[in-house]
Amino acid sequence: MNEFCLIEQFFKPIATKRSDVVFGIGDDAACLEIPRGANFLISTDTLVGGNHFLSEWNPYDIACRAVMVNVSDMAAMAADPCWVTLALTLPEADPAWLKPFSQGLNDSLNKFNIALIGGDTTRGPLSITLTIAGLAPEGKAVKRDGAKPGDVILVSGQLGAAALAVKFLNDHSIPENDTAILMQKLIHPEPRVDLINCLRSYASAAIDISDGLSADLNHICVASGVGACLIENAIPVHPLLKKYLSEQAVDLALRGGDDYELCFTVPARLLEPLMNELKRANTLCYPIGEIESAQGLRIKAPDNTSKILKPEGYSHFS
Ligand code: ADP
Ligand code: MG
Repeated sequence: MNEFCLIEQFFKPIATKRSDVVFGIGDDAACLEIPRGANFLISTDTLVGGNHFLSEWNPYDIACRAVMVNVSDMAAMAADPCWVTLALTLPEADPAWLKPFSQGLNDSLNKFNIALIGGDTTRGPLSITLTIAGLAPEGKAVKRDGAKPGDVILVSGQLGAAALAVKFLNDHSIPENDTAILMQKLIHPEPRVDLINCLRSYASAAIDISDGLSADLNHICVASGVGACLIENAIPVHPLLKKYLSEQAVDLALRGGDDYELCFTVPARLLEPLMNELKRANTLCYPIGEIESAQGLRIKAPDNTSKILKPEGYSHFS
């Protein structure tokens, strides 16, 4: 099977149609219609076999994960994800691999109404690069550099399950239903597109937690020229982390990557209206600390003593 048959068979049919795609796969470049008054945002993420996923994973799952981590970048910017291109490097053109991969791509793109508009296909060690683009109303994208002293720091969900899943990859003593929940968290993270509108209305800065809460919050702090103090007791730790590793639970929630929840900051006066709006939408976000003018990260223990928090991320498969 040559490159062109492969594109024709597996990527051209991918369903999502959007009226703003003037033309997509098949030309030297795709052409999009950008609405007046919108900002165009674009971002790329590469997933390398053996590093971001195991090559023996189901290709369907690999494709879903590639889409989800890219969608998460758009959510973190408060941009609606709209289009992707796919740069795919494959050791061989194996239809048994490509079929479930393109199905996973199709299903996960459809879920968010994202169109596949082009890409590139090459031979080499398995690697998947998605470039995603999206839209936000002019001036409404949320960056990392807007956090101010006094802002409240929030996270959008319980943390640490994906890191625990990685820890347990080779541990077969864990009951199957718990392993299934953890692997679901690792392989099918759910990007927080539901928070895009709230971020536009309330957030001063935002980031998605791909490297771990402490490392990613530190990116906000460095970009904004501020520091942060977290409340240890307020950090939402995934219940399975408490169940299996209660001693290290907070630590793994702070350092474990791949949660793809959002960490964002909100001016203190906006916290109440935000929490009310989230409640109406039946969504939960957790205030976990405060932005301070003193640089660096700190964490307050239950006994009210503060210590320095090192911004460390979790490193996979190393
Ligand atoms: P060129 O040689 O001009 O770079 P290609 O032969 O690489 O073009 O690709 C032909 C068309 O197929 C282009 O429109 C390109 O965007 C698209 N394409 C190539 N690979 C992929 C892929 N993996 N997924 C989606 N579209 C692809
Ligand atoms: Mg090409």
